[in-house]
Amino acid sequence: MSEQKNVTMEKIVSLCKRRGFVFPSSEIYGGFAAVYDFGPYGTELANNIKAAWWKAMVQENENIVGLDSSIFMHPRVWEASGHVGGFADPLTECRNCHTRSRVDHLLEDAGVFADEKMSEDEINKLMKENKDKIKCPKCGASDFSEAKKFNLLVKSNLGNFTGNWGDDPAYLRGETCQGIYINFKNVLDSTRQKIPFGIAQIGKAFRNEITARQFIFRKREFEQMEMQMFLAPKGAMDVYEDWRKRRWQYYLDLGIKKENLNWHEHENLVFYAKAAWDIEYKFPFGFKEMEGIHYRTDYDLSQHSKFSGKDLSYQDPVTGEKYMPHVVETSVGVDRTFLAVITEAYSEEKLEDGSERTVLKLPHRLAPIKLAVFPLLKNKAELVKKAREIYDNLKLQWMCEFDDNGNVGKRYRRQDEIGTPYCVTVDFDSLEKGTVTVRDRDSMKQETIQIEELETYLNEKLK
Ligand code: ATP
Repeated sequence: MSEQKNVTMEKIVSLCKRRGFVFPSSEIYGGFAAVYDFGPYGTELANNIKAAWWKAMVQENENIVGLDSSIFMHPRVWEASGHVGGFADPLTECRNCHTRSRVDHLLEDAGVFADEKMSEDEINKLMKENKDKIKCPKCGASDFSEAKKFNLLVKSNLGNFTGNWGDDPAYLRGETCQGIYINFKNVLDSTRQKIPFGIAQIGKAFRNEITARQFIFRKREFEQMEMQMFLAPKGAMDVYEDWRKRRWQYYLDLGIKKENLNWHEHENLVFYAKAAWDIEYKFPFGFKEMEGIHYRTDYDLSQHSKFSGKDLSYQDPVTGEKYMPHVVETSVGVDRTFLAVITEAYSEEKLEDGSERTVLKLPHRLAPIKLAVFPLLKNKAELVKKAREIYDNLKLQWMCEFDDNGNVGKRYRRQDEIGTPYCVTVDFDSLEKGTVTVRDRDSMKQETIQIEELETYLNEKLK
């Protein structure tokens, strides 16, 4: 058996569509740019990714608690956070093919760094200086329109029936962490947490992304998994460094190879941040940000104190010391993790008999379906009955599939492509000797197991 690791975006997009992981949104209406739906297996995989993150962050840490705040928040939240004024990307259009691109991305591809805080004039100056280096990713031309900054917040027309927020639009949240900051005091007052403690949240975020060419890497509606640690100023940097280590290890534990991960340090920090590093993954289009880990000092709570008029400072119950808590944040997208784990797991193999297979070697805990149960033959009632009995029992514990379509070889190929770790086949020996064969996805080896020992065997394997 020889393994080929030639993973392209085309192959991933095609597998995701073919096998029901990811569908383009509103496809029957011609699609809806940069919006995607998770299909049956995609939903399972995304749920397993979220469960793994929740376990690593909330379940395994006594001092981190969960939150599920709303998508809508008071419009002042987004002023306090700086998003109304500054959450904007510079956009340009290729004069040859009219493709729109983010200028910071074009410059980055040309090896030129553009600071987030640059004005339109400064960006345009930088574009002119590097005119020959920057190329349209679609047609390769180097002729672009003037850059313009576009705000990324998505507005809604949610009615101002209560009249308590003026004429401002209510935005769909651009990031989940603002919901954490504005609930800091509520969590503090309603739990036994004391600083240092963290609040974790998983939820949808919305951004008017102006370029959307990389499948689920950059969506307009996406899901974030964010954790904010609230800390005393003293020692916060050590906590930051500790989280950097822990988040790196988390990806290794998720089955991602070290060589496919990379640290990227932000070159120009926003004025309030003390440190910012991204964990990048080697996607088929190169190393790109998967998670951001930031030390944001006391900026967030200070801003919300200022804009809300509510004091969000903290008094240490032992020393009596009063301070505005500092924040260390870890922030990652479900969708980018999804794309990374599929890329990592995707494998094409040439088998000894000359045939080929595509297999998703997902870690067991992430696999959408853990077990498939087959009757060897579909038209033998006793085999089907026995296989159903086994399936009905196993499904109480694991996500299982019953499959009697086509021949066993075809069923294996299908399960390999969705990453099912084990397939259980019921054959005539099952009726006569009470055994089944269990086939391992990765080694393709088959073992004969007594039916009454099957659950113990699988429990051990899927641990
Ligand atoms: P980028 O520079 O790629 O636009 P960002 O620095 O704006 O990303 P953050 O605001 O730090 O991203 O968001 C934290 C995480 O949320 C990112 O690391 C990423 O995993 C995820 N994320 C951000 N924007 C998107 C998006 N449009 N689609 C999918 N995931 C996203």
